[in-house]
Amino acid sequence: MYDIELRQVAKKYKGSETDAVSGITLDIRKGTIVTLLGPSGCGKTTILRLIAGFERTDTGEIAVAGQVVDDRKTWVAPEARDVGMVFQDYALFPHMTVAGNIGFALKGRSKQQRIREVMRLVDLAGLENRYPHELSGGQQQRVALARALAKNPAVILLDEPFSNLDTDLRTVMIDELKRIISQAGITAVFVSHDQKDAMTISDQIVVIRDGIIQQSGTPREIYQFPDNVFVATFVGQTNILDGMMGADDNSIITEIGTLPCMHTHSVLAGEKVCVSVRPESFVVSRDGKMSGKVVRLSYTGKTIDATVDLTLPDRKTRNLHISAHPEELIGIGDLVRFNVIPDFVAVINCRYLQQSSRSAASLHN
Ligand code: ADP
Ligand code: MG
Repeated sequence: MYDIELRQVAKKYKGSETDAVSGITLDIRKGTIVTLLGPSGCGKTTILRLIAGFERTDTGEIAVAGQVVDDRKTWVAPEARDVGMVFQDYALFPHMTVAGNIGFALKGRSKQQRIREVMRLVDLAGLENRYPHELSGGQQQRVALARALAKNPAVILLDEPFSNLDTDLRTVMIDELKRIISQAGITAVFVSHDQKDAMTISDQIVVIRDGIIQQSGTPREIYQFPDNVFVATFVGQTNILDGMMGADDNSIITEIGTLPCMHTHSVLAGEKVCVSVRPESFVVSRDGKMSGKVVRLSYTGKTIDATVDLTLPDRKTRNLHISAHPEELIGIGDLVRFNVIPDFVAVINCRYLQQSSRSAASLHN
């Protein structure tokens, strides 16, 4: 059962030469948390606004909670859609109190009771008579969230909800939002340009570039088995290598040696491939088969992130990003030995999944 369905949705803004988004097909399962992840300008907000009904599709179809809300024959106004939205800047009414903001779209006798309920849900009880300017950023966000939840929608949309919060508050809000969403029993779509936030909060991540979906999957699928070079490099750090499929199904011959690989997309032996090797795939070990000189190092507490220079048989050198256990005693200039484990080695599409006409320009956005 899906709460949000998009079929081949495209949208071009007036005066623009290219589509803001195109070919968007997406099924979002009821009760899940999904993040639209991608760089600035890739079309994330546009997709939210299309779902909410603040924009109309040029082509394609959108259904919310099983009801078609936008296609060539149908148009359901935003207020009649089963959707609540939290805007990036919160968009609170400055002249209204917290309770006034939250109850804005509510009618009828149970209005006051519902305001109290959602205020309790988002942990704002006691602040009903304050004005937005008398609240902290985190509290304002809770008011925006409470307003979006007030009508008890099937779906809630949140545009970059963490971008204005500092790191500590961000961690707290991510946990809080998970709790609130599961307690309210709703489906949530987040927009984010931050891969860490997306990994932490989502059941499903949809990676977007230039208005086109590059990959959709669980955080683990996206990180471990990226489909193409954009996803591999945008979501976490990686090493991209050219190679050739080995004679067996699970090895790839590259310039740095033969690497084990479990995710080969059933490529045939001898075919040219591109591989993504995450830093965690290089495991530092005294009897490691490969070695390289440490040229850069940063200690994060959880890991040591190092760049090593490998000298290849043809005497060229090649940079690799590797990740070592924080207890390893490694310094700049040291020679480290390491092996490769297959867990984070994946064959990927060397090109972006689909190129759109916007590609070159928007890389610099
Ligand atoms: P994101 O939220 O991922 O940063 P947006 O959906 O806001 O991206 O924008 C996608 C593209 O559409 C961008 O190229 C942006 O400049 C353009 N765009 C967004 N809103 C409008 C608008 N109202 N009019 C014209 N172009 C727009
Ligand atoms: Mg945006």
